[in-house]
This record gives sequence, structure tokens and C-alpha cells, in this order.
Amino acid sequence: MIPLAETPVATRTVRFALPDIDEDDIAAVAEVLRGGWLSSGPRCAELEEKFAAYTGAKHALAVNSCTAGLHLALAALGLGAGDEVITTPLTFCATVNAILHTGATPVLADIGPDFNIDPERVRALCTPRTRAILPVHMAGLSCDMDAIWSLARERGLFVVEDAAHAAGTTYQGIPTGGGASDAVAFSFYATKNLTTGEGGLVATSSASLYERMRMLCLHGIDRHAWNRYTSPRNWHYDVSECGFKYNLSDINAALGVTQLARLDRMNRRRAHIAAQYSQALRDLPELQLPPTATGDSVHAWHLYILRLNTRLLAIDRAGFVAELQRLGTHCSVHFIPIPLHSAYRGFLEMPDPCMRALAEYERMFSLPLCSAMSNEDVEHVIESVRKVAVRHRKCAR
Ligand SMILES: *Cc1c(COP(=O)(O)O)cnc(C)c1O
Repeated sequence: MIPLAETPVATRTVRFALPDIDEDDIAAVAEVLRGGWLSSGPRCAELEEKFAAYTGAKHALAVNSCTAGLHLALAALGLGAGDEVITTPLTFCATVNAILHTGATPVLADIGPDFNIDPERVRALCTPRTRAILPVHMAGLSCDMDAIWSLARERGLFVVEDAAHAAGTTYQGIPTGGGASDAVAFSFYATKNLTTGEGGLVATSSASLYERMRMLCLHGIDRHAWNRYTSPRNWHYDVSECGFKYNLSDINAALGVTQLARLDRMNRRRAHIAAQYSQALRDLPELQLPPTATGDSVHAWHLYILRLNTRLLAIDRAGFVAELQRLGTHCSVHFIPIPLHSAYRGFLEMPDPCMRALAEYERMFSLPLCSAMSNEDVEHVIESVRKVAVRHRKCAR
């Protein structure tokens, strides 16, 4: 018999997130590289057209990140100093940075049991300075948009969605991006469900907001460069406003087009893996499974977030994640709540102490989840989580 080792040895390494790249993706990028037009051009136009058709949004604007898309939307809506934007504490820093860069003040409303912003808390935080709500579809599970949209209508507020996790999701049958919000920003960052390496897109159904975002996206120039080179008076342009440099390159956009064609398939693979995790871990009282979609909504399973029932365990979250790492299962934490970052001290309005987000943060971590995972990877993750939970169980309950 082989004696049990003191330190568990990893038999396999499962990285937290791998991009899902196939030969179509590679061929599409190579074609752009051979074609002589690398910046925003025909592939961006194709991605915009196909993404708009996919989501039902009237307009889509390809941008170089979701952060840029959020900032662009808020700036184009005219937000600035003195305005308040209500958002969630459980998000990536990009969400609040986009607000702060307009000069507006982020106001945090605590999350509900689904990890998403609680619409009742949003209502309680509305002041005469509130101009917009910025909900984040955490992990790819849609926020309660009916409540948010009706509050926004009632109070005359803008709604800009951070859909960084939510490409391919629906809310009560409505595709994310095609709903009643003013703008919806998606991320195509390397770890996201659909990736272009770096990139993003803003969807809107307002023609005027779209025109304004399109203009501000490229320095405030009145026409896109690509159109400029095909018109006879091709040297002339006017900078009508001081804008930003947020356009996407055709190299990235080409990848977006081929990825979009596989998005539903990739998301189904994610959902299948998430279901396998839940099935295999549901009998462990030390673990609490993630919230799931209800009714006619489709979850993107961008993240699979477990919570520890710490009173049943002899180790804390940091210890649990470190043990998994030693077993070759690389986890992450989403997210360190916004008020805990030093940069935001003094910038945030905190009338809501965000107790739930801060408490959940202490016991949450995300398992590896991506469509490129093999069945063996999934098995390995399940085995290592079970092993760590059982090994560190508080005995004699
Ligand atoms: C990834 C992410 C972003 C930023 O996306 P980029 O495309 O990298 O700018 C914004 N919000 C959330 C919730 C994210 O996870």
C-alpha cells in the first residue's frame, strides 16, 4: 500500500479559464492580416450587424473593451459631475471606473440572494441627483430587469447594463442587449464567454444615442475612417467634439464574428459543466451552490461561484482555495467588493453598507469554468473540491 502523502500532489492542472479558439477563428484572423485593413473596417461592421441581429438591438457599436463601452455610453448620455449612478458593490472595478471617469459619483446598492443588485435597495437610494442605474448581470444571471426598468421609467433615470458576463443570455425571453435599457455593454476580454482577445460592444435601440456614441468613439470625428477612405473627398474630416479612442480593430472583430457563430454552442457547454458541478457537489453540506435562472431566463454560466458553509469547515475560503490550487484546480474570487479597494475610499457614496456583499465575499470562490474544458478537467475539479471539503470537515457534528 502506498502511504498517503502529507502534501497532496496534483495529478492534473486545470487552469481557471482558457479561451475557446478553433480553426475558424484562426483562419478569420489570418484573413484580416492578409487583407491590408487592420483597423476598424468591414469585420467590425459585420460583427456589429450580426450582434445586433442576434440580440434584437437596433444598433451595435464595436469598441475595444467593455470598460470603454460603459464609459462611452455614460458620457454620451451626458453624465458628469454632480450626478449619481447607482450600481452594485459586487463587480469588477471597470464598472465604477467607467462612472468615475465621467465625473459622476457611484452609489452602491447591496446585492440580493442572486448576487445581483437589489431593486428595492436601488429605490431607497434614489435622490434628486440620481441619473442612472448600472446593473451588472453577475456570473451571467440576469438582474431583475422588470423592477429596474419600471423604477427607471418612474423616476426618469437612464439604465446602462454591464453585460460583461452576459453575452448570449436572455431575461424572461428577451435577449440581453435587446431590452428596454438605454445601452448594454458587453465584454470580449480573453476570459469572457465570447472573446476577441480584448474587445467589447455597446448595444442600443436609440438611433440618437448610437450616433453620438459612434462619433465619440473615434475622437469625436464626424465619420469613421473606413468610410472616409472610400469617399471622394477622402482627406476631410471635422472633430466636432473632444472624444475618445475606443474603436475595435478588424483583427479582433474577425474573431468576434466566428466566436458569435459558436456562442450558443459554447454557452451550452458551460451550462452542461455547471450542471455537472451542481449534481456532483449538492450532497456536501459544507458547500452552497450558486443561484440559478428562473422562469424564461437563460444563464450564461460565465462563472460558477461556490460558497463555503464555514461553520462546518475547519478552514476558511483562502485555505480552501489554496488546497484546491495544490491539487491542481485553479480557482478565483469574483469579486473583491468595490468598497474594499483603497482607490475608492472617498469617491463612493455609501449610504447602504452593503452587508450582504461583504459577508458573501468572505466565503465565495469561483471554480474553473470554460467551454474549452475537457470531461477529464471537469472530473478533476469535482474530485478535488470533494476531497478538500471532506478532508477539512469539522468532525463530530
Ligand atoms: C470583465 C468585466 C468588465 C470589463 O471588461 P473589459 O472588456 O475588460 O473592459 C466589466 N465588468 C465586469 C463585471 C467584468 O467582469
